[in-house]
Amino acid sequence: MEAARALSIEVVVASPHRPALAPLMEGRLLRLDFEKIHDSVASIVSFASKHPLDAVVAVDDGGTRLASAAGAALGLPHNPVAAVEAASNKALARAAFRRAGLRTPGFQVLSIDRDPTTLASALRYPCVVKPLDLSGSQGVIRADDESSLPAVFERVAAIVRSCARDTHSYLLIEDFIPGREVAVEGLLRSGRLEVLAIFDKPDPLDGPFFEETIYVTPSRLGREWQDSIAQTTASATGALGLVEGPIHAELRISDGDLTVLEVAPRSIGGLCARTLRFGAGMSLEEVILRHAAGLPMPDHQLEARAAGVMMLPIRAAGSLESVNGQEAARRVPEIEDLVLTIPPGERLVPLPEGDRYLGFLFARGRQPSSVEAALRDAYSRLTVVTHD
Ligand code: ADP
Repeated sequence: MEAARALSIEVVVASPHRPALAPLMEGRLLRLDFEKIHDSVASIVSFASKHPLDAVVAVDDGGTRLASAAGAALGLPHNPVAAVEAASNKALARAAFRRAGLRTPGFQVLSIDRDPTTLASALRYPCVVKPLDLSGSQGVIRADDESSLPAVFERVAAIVRSCARDTHSYLLIEDFIPGREVAVEGLLRSGRLEVLAIFDKPDPLDGPFFEETIYVTPSRLGREWQDSIAQTTASATGALGLVEGPIHAELRISDGDLTVLEVAPRSIGGLCARTLRFGAGMSLEEVILRHAAGLPMPDHQLEARAAGVMMLPIRAAGSLESVNGQEAARRVPEIEDLVLTIPPGERLVPLPEGDRYLGFLFARGRQPSSVEAALRDAYSRLTVVTHD
């Protein structure tokens, strides 16, 4: 909303909920069911017949399917609906990557009602068991051997059941790919990918649960790796058929080569985009809105200063009482901000069942290494107090 205001773009918010800003948005708020694509597209088209729209932008995973269908119905630049479906389903995405000749983990799709004891002996280990369409690493678990597979399978199946949108639910079992991981922020324009930023993830993501913590940019990888990350990400977006707007991709460097884990047709999640500044200080949201609305795109080279974010993990279950040490964390040199996104009194649920972070630490400084050190230092000063 801030980026739109800075660009004098009038916004109509479509949401399945009643957003907090409802009182300010009279006449510019559409309450829509994001699962009922047909009906919701009809509402958007009817709204647009009275108040013409120039662009439809999804702000997170939940809105990507509706945004592409609405874009198609209104004749606006959009990702093909089939491309967004493929990107939103890990099995379809794996199949598309494989067809395009990209390295992607070997995988199989199984009903959550299968008896895991009967398939444990036929799998390769370590493997990763995961839901097809959740995000934020929710329900993603590594299994190391035949004896641990049944419990892991049942745990993921229970998470899928609790979130299931239909009665026939599946999960994915795929090869575990070791190695360091990077995330890519990019912008597609008529099918051409421009890489806006590459983030290193300096904490090992080896499981059994895959809690995201630190992202730092610019990447400390050499030019050749960065070029090949850009090329592989472009091939992966092409394989899915995505053509327009922001993408967020996750890749692993393994055995001297790149494996694509995921490409989502949206920008980086949570508040992480705050780390990115382009050109003379433009935000990622402004870059996305300028592209969507067809406004001129000034210089948007990523700022040379290093920046990073730490997603504050939830390490233990309980009711949140307080987070102590906030002032000390904020005082660490190069720390820019600390934002807690779960208020006291709320229930904390760690991964793999949980789907939230406690908050975000932001840092900006001279070097990626100093930014990373600042984030670790500030985090070490925080104590999370909970009770049962
Ligand atoms: P989500 O969409 O919920 O983030 P992902 O499939 O991207 O789920 O998995 C989350 C994280 O789990 C990845 O960023 C990665 O660190 C780890 N992970 C997922 N699949 C694999 C795999 N096959 N091998 C190694 N790590 C994996």
